[in-house]
Amino acid sequence: MEKSELIRPFSEVTRFHGHVCPGTAIGYRAGEIALKKLRSSRASDEEFLAIVENDSCSVDAIQVITGCTMGKGNLIFKDHGKHVYTLLNRDTGEALRLSLIKSIDEIDSDFAKVRDKAFSELASAEDKLDFEKQKNQISKKILAMLDEELFKIEPVQVDIPKARVFPPIKCAKCGEMVAENKARLKNGEIVCIPCSYN
Ligand SMILES: [Zn+2]
Ligand SMILES: [Zn+2]
Repeated sequence: MEKSELIRPFSEVTRFHGHVCPGTAIGYRAGEIALKKLRSSRASDEEFLAIVENDSCSVDAIQVITGCTMGKGNLIFKDHGKHVYTLLNRDTGEALRLSLIKSIDEIDSDFAKVRDKAFSELASAEDKLDFEKQKNQISKKILAMLDEELFKIEPVQVDIPKARVFPPIKCAKCGEMVAENKARLKNGEIVCIPCSYN
């Protein structure tokens, strides 16, 4: 089978995410490029580890296309507010870091104007429709751009974080179970994070 045949279509991302947008197109491309370059013959949902440096729409695309999810522990979120995606093949140890080199406004100079109009107080139904059209258009454009036009792509070394399981303990205040590593000590009592605030 060709490597590209193993790659899920963008329509699956849209179904999962709920709408077409440039964010999911960027995430899709990051995942697609990395998968093509890193995929080995064994395809499983545990093959990869993804590190994402934002929590935007694009992360939904990363999850669908790479199979890395928060729940499985192979999606690591770093709150950096950057369009940077690192994918590691856990079998081969190979990893790629992709960072977006063009802003959405650089990709489509009309985008900001149309968006601002659609979100203004005086926005008409037509303005909103225009924005939807613009989103579709720019997403299509992103999906068709050359790899190197969209991302700086570099091989990197990634230390594989160890999966750890923490036993639950009971919060002394609310009585709910909390993973040990997230528990806090407050006035000599072991409490959960929200209870530690009040
Ligand atoms: Zn979106
Ligand atoms: Zn509590």
